[in-house]
Amino acid sequence: MKNVYLDNNATTGVAPEVVEVMQPFFTELWGNPSSMHYFGGQVARHIEAAREQVAALIGADPSEIVFTSCGTESDNTAIRGALEAAGPHTRLITTRVEHAAVLGSARHFKEHGGDVVELGVDASGQLDPAELHRELAHGPAVVSIMWANNETGVIFPIQELAEITRQAGCVFHTDAVQAVGKLPIDVSNTPIDMLSLSGHKLHAPKGIGVLYVRKGTKLNPFLLGGHQESGRRGGTENVPYIVGLGKACELAAAHLEDEGPRVAALRDRLEEGLLTICPDTSINGDRVNRLPNTSNISFQFIEGEGILYHMSDAGIAASSGSACTSGSLEPSHVIRAMGVPFTAAHGSIRFSLSRYNTEEEIDYVIETLPPIVTRLRELSPFV
Ligand code: PLP
Repeated sequence: MKNVYLDNNATTGVAPEVVEVMQPFFTELWGNPSSMHYFGGQVARHIEAAREQVAALIGADPSEIVFTSCGTESDNTAIRGALEAAGPHTRLITTRVEHAAVLGSARHFKEHGGDVVELGVDASGQLDPAELHRELAHGPAVVSIMWANNETGVIFPIQELAEITRQAGCVFHTDAVQAVGKLPIDVSNTPIDMLSLSGHKLHAPKGIGVLYVRKGTKLNPFLLGGHQESGRRGGTENVPYIVGLGKACELAAAHLEDEGPRVAALRDRLEEGLLTICPDTSINGDRVNRLPNTSNISFQFIEGEGILYHMSDAGIAASSGSACTSGSLEPSHVIRAMGVPFTAAHGSIRFSLSRYNTEEEIDYVIETLPPIVTRLRELSPFV
């Protein structure tokens, strides 16, 4: 049996080059970077080198990079820290299709008396910048809008949204966890105040993230404690992972230009193959403004969970957006926000590729999946 991993938006394999650079920080260079002696000092240098590598990938100044433990921490810090620093009567404007890390922070703010606005999306998963413009007219706000959606890959017009927010004198945060390493990003040309990224989505390990904070942005620290990260995030630095993330960012920058078109060609091959062979199958989300590695496909009249289960048996890993709540499978909040009809929403599967996928793997999926779909439809009460 083959193993075909097409769930890279959930997590990616750690690049061998990343593992290699991390190794010495477990065996020899294990000092505390805050120590005054040489043993810590020699480690601190490597953190600063990694900070430069991360900054280079997104066009930031190294001093604007804050290491965190994950994308979730970066999102929480940005939203809660900016709202706290902004003072009373500041609203939070976000969208209905954000990751739980942002929606959870929004819910927390609301439960504590805050005012939250969630912008909707159209059938293609796109939002209307004019709606943000209208909402910003109602007073001070922190805006948090994702760069690219983790389920559909739909890319939001971040440049325009950040400009609208800047003109209104408000703070703009973007969850770019799915965009960094897949799309060119240059914060020096985009008026973003804060940006979240996560190591394990770009071939670094799980448990390391970054919050980019533009110089001058008002932000209260979320983790209080030591003076690490220039007082912006307490806690002894996770040195091996920081070094690994630096290397992963360097690799991402080196691969960015060739990798996007190559991965997009594989994704398009997969979509064309599956849509040609399987009837009643459609793609969810804006096909033009979309991450090169992501495809969200609805197989009508069947449950996504059933498809995943049988694909997994055949060695293919993908994911579905549905969650089992109170015994019934509910389509994800993203698919629901797009108004995808019931029979298609339940059978939606996300395939997400990486630089390590091959044409042979894609052809295996095109050959293996259609008979699974046919068999499940024969058993479906909806057909
Ligand atoms: N934001 C988005 C868009 C994501 O896809 C994810 C992870 O799936 C996160 C945030 C959370 O990142 P982490 O797993 O590093 O906490």
